[in-house]
Amino acid sequence: MTTDEGRERPPSSAVVVGAGIVGLSCAFSLQEHGVEVTLVDRKQPGAGASWQNAGLLSPAMTGPLPEPAILRYGLKAVVNPRSPVGVAWQADPRLARFALSLVRHCTTAAWRRGMEAYRPLNEQVAASYEHQREGGVTAEVTTSDILSCFAHPDGQSGLLHELEALVSSGQPVDIELLTGDEARRQEPRLSGHISAAVRIRGQQFITPSKYVTALAEVVRRRGGKIVEDTEVTSVERRGRVVVAKTDGADLDADAVVLASGAWLSTLAAPHGVRVPVYGGRGYSFTVPCDPPLSGPAHFPAARVAVAPQGDRLRVTGIMEFGSPDAPARSSRIPTILRGVRPLLEGIDWERRSDEWMGARPLSSDGVPLVGATRTPGVYVAGGHGMWGITLGPLTGSLLARQIATGEPPAELGRLDPCR
Ligand SMILES: Cc1cc2nc3c(=O)[nH]c(=O)nc-3n(C[C@H](O)[C@H](O)[C@H](O)COP(=O)(O)OP(=O)(O)OC[C@H]3O[C@@H](n4cnc5c(N)ncnc54)[C@H](O)[C@@H]3O)c2cc1C
Repeated sequence: MTTDEGRERPPSSAVVVGAGIVGLSCAFSLQEHGVEVTLVDRKQPGAGASWQNAGLLSPAMTGPLPEPAILRYGLKAVVNPRSPVGVAWQADPRLARFALSLVRHCTTAAWRRGMEAYRPLNEQVAASYEHQREGGVTAEVTTSDILSCFAHPDGQSGLLHELEALVSSGQPVDIELLTGDEARRQEPRLSGHISAAVRIRGQQFITPSKYVTALAEVVRRRGGKIVEDTEVTSVERRGRVVVAKTDGADLDADAVVLASGAWLSTLAAPHGVRVPVYGGRGYSFTVPCDPPLSGPAHFPAARVAVAPQGDRLRVTGIMEFGSPDAPARSSRIPTILRGVRPLLEGIDWERRSDEWMGARPLSSDGVPLVGATRTPGVYVAGGHGMWGITLGPLTGSLLARQIATGEPPAELGRLDPCR
């Protein structure tokens, strides 16, 4: 926005498309800059991936998805219907385009470049959640170690290699190697199959559905409007305002933020965003677990993460490349169960409930897309893949600063959505 004298004028109104953790955090932070915000969601807050994921805020594990091991593991896995990695096969040209681009980025050099983008973000995760707490978001954020558990001691090598790479990229990580017995002393529900573990110290976790609900409440309390059950079909600039066209009325504002998760590419591509974003569908359920686990645990071989949720355990897993709108596959929850059942004891798996599927918004180069597009006044916040809960609040605060001041913060340099 420019004034009549040609100076940059901060926007006074914004429409945010998508009320997941990222869109809500953008709204929260824009409000701090005095911007009047309208959020629009095709369903309701948290209707996408932000509802019942694992809820880990784990900077020590946060990095790009594409790396050479994904190719070796992934190609074998996608053709095995019982594998925790798969494809929701359907005629979808977006899948082929995404897959080709992802494969191109499965190199060590691309992973290192991606990690350079994550490092300055990862160090601010705890502070970004603390900032939202100070702003009235009172949902619990629990500090905890995360146990990464392995049936075979050799299994640790992949994780240790990744953690070493993180440390060499300049990110401090505090870990301890445990035997199976040491891990069971901390977490007695771990079964005798676990023979080794890595304790990753000083991470955090939330119950995502409660957190998103609390964040939406604060956005509303501060005067933000949340328009539910309304799909934005396109966004265009008309003169001095940006218009988000919905199925019903148009909404205009000084700025529009596209934060529509795994659906991002449809709205963002016309504004110069070429990196495709596609769904990495994951599944979860909860099951009674009393006494609860002392903290989250991660079983990389089974691709399962679990986290305490009151007197229940939230169990999450599966990476299924597919359209976020395709129906959930009934075979996926049994795949998670087959993986986790032998690893945890004393849980009645038949009493599970809350079965859920959500699509991680995966960018094909593994780096989030946050910043201005080619269209003045149109911004993007998305593509956080496996780590949108960890990075949502920080994304909101960095992008809101860019929108309000016209100056992109240094941390967003590598996240340019038009790269
Ligand atoms: C099983 C699983 C486990 C996970 N575990 C973790 C974890 O432990 N830690 C972590 O950091 N991350 C985790 N993630 C990833 C995390 O959930 C996502 O990265 C994050 O929720 C993405 O947030 P978002 O706001 O970008 O997208 P979403 O939450 O998907 O929100 C997008 C919103 O946009 C709306 N929308 C879409 N199109 C339109 C439109 N045209 N008009 C209006 N509204 C629209 C949708 O309805 C939706 O509400 C996990 C994901 C899964 C599936």
